[in-house]
Amino acid sequence: MLHQFTYLAPRTRAELHGVLADNGAAASLLAGGTDLLVNIRAGLARPKIVVDAKTVEGLAGLAWSEREGLVIHAGVTINALLADARTQNDYPLLIACARDLASHQIRNRATVVGNVVNASPCADMAPALLCLRARAVIGSKRGEREIPFSAFFKGVKKTAVAPDEVVERVVVPAASARARAGYYKLKRINGHDLGIVGVALSVERSGEMRLTIGSCAPTPILVEGLESSLPADAVVAKVLAAINPISDVRATKEYRSHMVEYYVRRLLDEVRS
Ligand SMILES: Cc1cc2nc3c(=O)[nH]c(=O)nc-3n(C[C@H](O)[C@H](O)[C@H](O)COP(=O)(O)OP(=O)(O)OC[C@H]3O[C@@H](n4cnc5c(N)ncnc54)[C@H](O)[C@@H]3O)c2cc1C
Repeated sequence: MLHQFTYLAPRTRAELHGVLADNGAAASLLAGGTDLLVNIRAGLARPKIVVDAKTVEGLAGLAWSEREGLVIHAGVTINALLADARTQNDYPLLIACARDLASHQIRNRATVVGNVVNASPCADMAPALLCLRARAVIGSKRGEREIPFSAFFKGVKKTAVAPDEVVERVVVPAASARARAGYYKLKRINGHDLGIVGVALSVERSGEMRLTIGSCAPTPILVEGLESSLPADAVVAKVLAAINPISDVRATKEYRSHMVEYYVRRLLDEVRS
């Protein structure tokens, strides 16, 4: 039988902060539900209260300004991001990662914020947000704070977000716009599947190169501060030293390392051509 819970749909951020402050870890936020409801059904999550984030004023939609950059509010689905002309034009890495996330039907429900708060090592949006220097803006009754994604992931399904906090928006800086970039994800099947490894690479207008590797450690791994002209062998060496892949039912650690190297070299060729 499905675990019983109370469903709440606050209208304002203050109401939402109050519910989370009063209930802490007994409450789970609901965005698209494509992770949360699967976990509840499987008995892996047993929240007493499910709090709908989609009904809260001020947590919907995409915005852009020269000062802030791209603002992705908590309610923004993967398909809404894919349909946004600004994102298509200025943040192709977000589009590449979003396109590889699940199926069209899931992308209609799944949110960008839910994907990163779920904190799977293979989360498809994490590589883009790490490479593009994005940060999470987090609200609670205690006030607002920001965490760069480089400090956001703390382990498998663990983040720096406290039980009384909500990720209200993700900000991708204007300075990261039009970075040359790409994303490759190895899957067992063509079509939608979780990643066996994922590699994103971006070269900023400043010339700094950043790479993020998914599914090769408990969290996505960011390798930053590289000169864009660094020889491919040196880039590969730095990336392989940073990851710690395991063998599991989907791939051996040797195969994962091999594919990471292959994708790094392929992405380098592409961004340098
Ligand atoms: C069939 C299937 C295929 C999938 N394929 C992929 C794939 O290829 N790649 C991939 O990366 N993922 C995949 N997923 C996982 C999933 O779709 C994504 O992780 C999705 O983006 C989660 O977003 P959501 O809005 O559905 O989150 P929810 O399920 O609503 O929430 C996820 C977690 O985040 C918390 N949360 C949600 N919003 C907030 C907030 N604003 N502040 C704080 N906490 C919050 C919730 O409490 C919950 O713990 C797949 C899932 C399914 C069911």
